[in-house]
Amino acid sequence: MARKFNFSAGPAMLPTAVIERAQQEMLDWNGSGMSVMEMSHRGKEYMSIAAKAEKDLREVMGIPDHYKVLFLQGGASSQFAAIPLNLLGDKASADYINTGMWSKKAIAEAKRYCTVNIAADTSDNGFTTVPTQAQLKLNPDAAYVHYTSNETIGGVEFDYIPETGGVPLIADLSSSILSRPIDVSKFAMIYAGAQKNIGPAGLTIVIIHEDLLGKAAENCPTMFNYAIHAENDSMYNTPATYSWYMAGLVFEWIKERGGLEAMAEVNKRKADKLYSVIDSSDFYGSPVAINARSWMNVPFTLANPDLDAAFLAGATERGLVTLKGHRSVGGMRASIYNAMPEEGVDALVAYMQEFEGNQG
Ligand SMILES: *Cc1c(COP(=O)(O)O)cnc(C)c1O
Repeated sequence: MARKFNFSAGPAMLPTAVIERAQQEMLDWNGSGMSVMEMSHRGKEYMSIAAKAEKDLREVMGIPDHYKVLFLQGGASSQFAAIPLNLLGDKASADYINTGMWSKKAIAEAKRYCTVNIAADTSDNGFTTVPTQAQLKLNPDAAYVHYTSNETIGGVEFDYIPETGGVPLIADLSSSILSRPIDVSKFAMIYAGAQKNIGPAGLTIVIIHEDLLGKAAENCPTMFNYAIHAENDSMYNTPATYSWYMAGLVFEWIKERGGLEAMAEVNKRKADKLYSVIDSSDFYGSPVAINARSWMNVPFTLANPDLDAAFLAGATERGLVTLKGHRSVGGMRASIYNAMPEEGVDALVAYMQEFEGNQG
């Protein structure tokens, strides 16, 4: 059976070449006579796999040496608690920018540990915009500023990196990491669950400035303590070995394709094609302000929502799957991460035009 074009927000498609490589190496990794899944995380084979993945990620993202890269578990959602537990230090409050469902979850969790100052909130327009720099009400005494660079559910993406006047900036990049080049040095910490643009679920990547380590709260669980994971090269306990290996294959795939500049070029073209068919008639619509439109998650609506079910059924027949919008916003959502081939977007655009032609 042909592989489907899977527009899921996550777990999402992986590059076919990566899955094929994993298949070739499944029973016998590099003459070891073992599957990667069966290897001790402390053995020399697995250690080489882990180190290569980190080296390639550092190269692809241009991560400076004074940042640690941690390969953790627990999803981005665990970071919502780990961040205040590790980074408040002697401060009592942190700034959060609220741009959608994932920011809200991060805020709710942070409130268990500190005073949260909402630096901006776009709920009054249904989370369809990003606040401008001038609209951010930042507290110069905050422990850090947290924002969600790309809101996976609303399809809202920042078109700039907030300027915080020296307060450490933390970004949830779960659904936009590796989609385009980014200046890591502007951030104190970046984190991302793997299952959108990195690899299989089970792995969470944290990229953190060394100066932020060692300030964890007294009651911070050991497994949430960044300094412990950094000191142990993310092997304080058994890491998600297979997901880490798969992420490494994805980083190699990105390098082979020309790195993040090349990813950005294709991603921009894919997103432009979709938004242009959405904007070219009144049949389709996008609720998101033009400057805030995500390259990775493209929500869209039909002017007549009674046609949603027929639209989705026809798409599924053509192998275009998981296009139903998140239950909180309805309509459709096409997630078009790095691994979604441009032909997948072309097929969706052709189907959208055909469906409009038949119904409109
Ligand atoms: C998916 C997602 C999360 C949650 O990730 P888990 O790994 O499921 O905990 C958090 N933030 C953003 C922006 C996401 O897209």
